Amino acid sequence: MKRAFKIAGAVLALLLVFPLVVILTTFVGNPKIPDGLELASGARVVNDGYVATFMVPTGDGSLALIDCGNDASGKALLAELERRKLPRDAVKAIFVTHGHPDHIKGCPLFPAAQIYALETERGVIEGREKTHGPVTKLFPARDLGVRVTRALKDGETVAVGPLQVTVFAVPGHTRGSAAYLAGGVLYLGDSADAKKDGTLVGSKYWFSDDKEQNQASLHALATRLASRADEIKTLAFAHTGVLPGFAPLRDFR
Ligand SMILES: [Zn+2]
Repeated sequence: MKRAFKIAGAVLALLLVFPLVVILTTFVGNPKIPDGLELASGARVVNDGYVATFMVPTGDGSLALIDCGNDASGKALLAELERRKLPRDAVKAIFVTHGHPDHIKGCPLFPAAQIYALETERGVIEGREKTHGPVTKLFPARDLGVRVTRALKDGETVAVGPLQVTVFAVPGHTRGSAAYLAGGVLYLGDSADAKKDGTLVGSKYWFSDDKEQNQASLHALATRLASRADEIKTLAFAHTGVLPGFAPLRDFR
């Protein structure tokens, strides 16, 4: 009987300690998402309380989004549209960095938008494939009603009005994770984060399929983008603040 209590106590302690460890190692020491910050080319950070999405003007009162957030009711995104005095169907394109639910729940609010993502991430986004991080693998695949309407290939550039968006495959956080370079901003989703000391770190261990692959992808991305370094004014991340210029990616170790 005593032994059973001890085991139950140990299990309970683990159940309490584990989330604490995950939260401490994932979120403490991160610079805050700078809600409302204006980036190059008029892009704007929209913080939905948990994850940053980015609203990017694409000419003639239309917009693109980078990811669509954790809030299925889209409160922050709709407030930003209201501020711009634009209707929902002004959102013509959504570039999805990867299929974790906190990045795609808001997408069905914008039926006029083309949904862009790497073909390799389609199964995750559409709820047929789960991801494999130490924490994310505990959750089943979920269909959130999001469909990729325009699958992308690594290195491809697509135009949304005058905005040119180049996609780079950065597998590791998930198999089909993407980074997008658009209007002087490199959007990295969950593939990297900013630290308060201005350095860039790789994706969060607990939520990533393959940390080693993520690191290799970031090194490869730095090499591929070296010739476009002058173009990159800002590095933007989904769960932390932004970093200026290309240097933090170049110096990533
Ligand atoms: Zn993620």
